Amino acid sequence: MNPHRILPEDRFSTLRLGDARVHTVRHRPVINPAHGTVFASVPRADPEHLERAVTAARDAFLGWRALSWAERQTRIEALADRMARARDELADLMTLEQGKPRHSAAIGEVDYAVGWLRGIAGQRLSGRILEDAPHHHVEQSYAPLGVVGLIVPWNFPLCLAVWKLAPALMTGNSVILKPSPYTPLTALRLAELAEDILPPGVLSVLTGDDALGQWMVDHPGIAKISFTGSAATGRKVMAGAAAHLKRVTLELGGNDPAIVLPDADLDACVPQLFWGAFGNSGQWCVGIKRLYVHDDIYPQLLDALVTYARSVPMGDGMEPANLLGPLQNARQYAKVLDILDDCPRRGLRFAHGGKRLLDQAGYFVPVTLVDNPPDASRVVVEEAFGPVLPVLRYRDFDDVVRRANDTEYGLGASIWGRDTAFAQTLADRLEAGTVWINEVYVHGVDFPFGGHKLSGLGVEHGAEGLAAYVNLKIRMTAR
Ligand code: NAD
Repeated sequence: MNPHRILPEDRFSTLRLGDARVHTVRHRPVINPAHGTVFASVPRADPEHLERAVTAARDAFLGWRALSWAERQTRIEALADRMARARDELADLMTLEQGKPRHSAAIGEVDYAVGWLRGIAGQRLSGRILEDAPHHHVEQSYAPLGVVGLIVPWNFPLCLAVWKLAPALMTGNSVILKPSPYTPLTALRLAELAEDILPPGVLSVLTGDDALGQWMVDHPGIAKISFTGSAATGRKVMAGAAAHLKRVTLELGGNDPAIVLPDADLDACVPQLFWGAFGNSGQWCVGIKRLYVHDDIYPQLLDALVTYARSVPMGDGMEPANLLGPLQNARQYAKVLDILDDCPRRGLRFAHGGKRLLDQAGYFVPVTLVDNPPDASRVVVEEAFGPVLPVLRYRDFDDVVRRANDTEYGLGASIWGRDTAFAQTLADRLEAGTVWINEVYVHGVDFPFGGHKLSGLGVEHGAEGLAAYVNLKIRMTAR
């Protein structure tokens, strides 16, 4: 595939509903964020399409749940193999629709998703015997929920979809996946790749507007919604799900603190801190969004970050030299610029960046380091979800823990220092679902991941992540 080619008009013009290919009356444009131009269009599903997808998923459920774990594993591994063979094509689509550099799309999304499918397929959710007395036998097992709705955002379109669909499918559910309206193409391609591997109706991908997500939440035929996105939308999902007492898993926003201790190895941690904050152009739920640096090392660390930032080229992700891409969409671009513009109005100093990139088409915001803004400033309080990082001074450890916890979010946090025993004592005091020490955003199929406070409800990954897609069932026999 020529990476600069505009997709043919009709490349993704239909939805697969059960065993039929269906044309929709309406379509949505897909914009390349590096240029701000339309390069493809996709079907815009109506309630009628959702209805057909739910019917197909319910029909497929009985056969799918009846398969053994090993049979489902074979299919999911076959899907992983198929995706691995389509690596280049998926990575091209990813960069065109999401904006991230092509090598990050290949390694960080496609390879990662392939490995994740295989990893989850290798897990087991085993029942157990709770009592085995001569007169009484009690056994705990699990039953899939039925049709599960998966709703994902635009920052990691493939990874976040696979985080949900791998455990949902392995536990015997059929699924309807709704990608973000901004990044529908890789999900549609995934559905095509799965077509002759998964029985019709087991996996449907529906593209459309935000309203489609709400219709899924409101649909009585969908037993659970697993949602990743903003806390504002998460609230709507939970409120809508309440009408049917529908199960929900919510992976929401974050405002993750990183605390750099005075004994930190700066040479080792500066690149990690940089990529922890600015990787994917800051559009990372567990990205470092507030960087607290001890007074003793503040000037050196800020200088080192500025020097590092100067060495990282930003531009169209299809150009191999570029290590950072644009923001993904116009709405996000406007939001981040608004936070950026607020800084000089409040007299804040940029240690790096800060100026709008007027000579670039597309949604580019420069890597920006804000020098010790007040705790109450917008750039500290709000989740920018872009390449803008407040660097904050602290002296006292109790005080920095208090400041780090002073947020309505609680997704992740990180601590950087040579004395890992001391770092662990601080970690225990941080209100976050995951605290990393001398690393950041490491995930694994066996490590449950979820947020405290406004960052979410429930977890993904690990045994708890599988258990989120089943009902627990107890069988008791008097004998
Ligand atoms: P968003 O909430 O606007 O949209 C997320 C998804 O929800 C999209 O598919 C959207 O179409 C859909 N949606 C919109 N309105 C809906 C409704 N009323 N009912 C059901 N679905 C609806 O979020 P976004 O802007 O796409 O993503 C950015 C946010 O996602 C950030 O806050 C980020 O921190 C968060 N995020 C969290 C994680 C995590 O794992 N915790 C991962 C990535 C992103």
